Amino acid sequence: RQGWLGRLSAGLRKTGSSLTAVFTGTRIDDALYEELETALLMADTGAQATTLLLDDLRRRVKAERATDPQQVRALLADAITDWLRPLQKPLAVGAQPDGPTVWMVAGVNGAGKTTTIGKLTWHLAHHGATVLLAAADTFRAAAREQLGVWAQRNGVDIVSQDGGDPAAVAFDAVTAGRARGKDVVIVDTAGRLPTQLHLMEELRKIKRVVQKAEATAPHEVLLVIDGNTGQNALAQVKAFDAALQLTGLIVTKLDGTAKGGVLAAIAMWAREQGRELPVYFIGIGEKLEDLQPFDAREFATALLS
Ligand code: GDP
Repeated sequence: RQGWLGRLSAGLRKTGSSLTAVFTGTRIDDALYEELETALLMADTGAQATTLLLDDLRRRVKAERATDPQQVRALLADAITDWLRPLQKPLAVGAQPDGPTVWMVAGVNGAGKTTTIGKLTWHLAHHGATVLLAAADTFRAAAREQLGVWAQRNGVDIVSQDGGDPAAVAFDAVTAGRARGKDVVIVDTAGRLPTQLHLMEELRKIKRVVQKAEATAPHEVLLVIDGNTGQNALAQVKAFDAALQLTGLIVTKLDGTAKGGVLAAIAMWAREQGRELPVYFIGIGEKLEDLQPFDAREFATALLS
């Protein structure tokens, strides 16, 4: 755990360096808050979340009668932790009365979707769950092959098909998952851009068909977002959520981003919507074990270390 936390800190140092630099002075004044505002904006926290976060911080500084910038830094860590805590929730494999737990996974090209499914599979297998993967990207042979490599590496079954209807593959996979007594079926979908609305319709169809195969499914609709893309990741969350009603997120590549503030922006957006939108996992590297449950306190601490 120490190892990965270190990696998260090292990664978020790009985000945090400008933040922590703000606290090196000796006075708590308007200049400090201004520098902090700039640093938060640079970290892709977004204008609205930045304003609210700074208001919250000022209240805390006043209540604690802080006199030293280092105290302000600690109070900022508390504020960020409290803001991010609603995002923290374990991804549970619910016991379904009949048939497998089904997770549908979406994301734009390059977000780290396939890698994340590989890591999730490893994580599940590690905890004794049996998994079946569905390669519902029937267009790109490379995508299927890549998923096949992860299936092989994890020793799990895969249902895939060359060409044809992605929804049909998802249907077959859920049916096969039930017949073979698997605990979890993970449905990989084709990467896309949020502007490719015809492909969004395809995702909706996959979801509908999965529901036909298993009345309570999909049990999770997960979006994989690249932490490096900052505010753009928030735009993706909004677009995919409008099409699919997401149940959770996985944020990848936090091992080297200057835009870690986007998590605060996502937390604020979810709160505004009156929604729960957990960040189930964060990706902090390219290896199988580089997927960790999101922890608000650890994240805030790493950000400001
Ligand atoms: P997809 O197009 O969304 O399926 O993306 P891939 O799974 O193919 O990943 C794109 C690239 O991002 C690959 O080079 C992955 O190794 C890399 N990647 C995925 N997750 C992480 C992560 O958490 N950290 C780092 N550093 N790289 C990652």
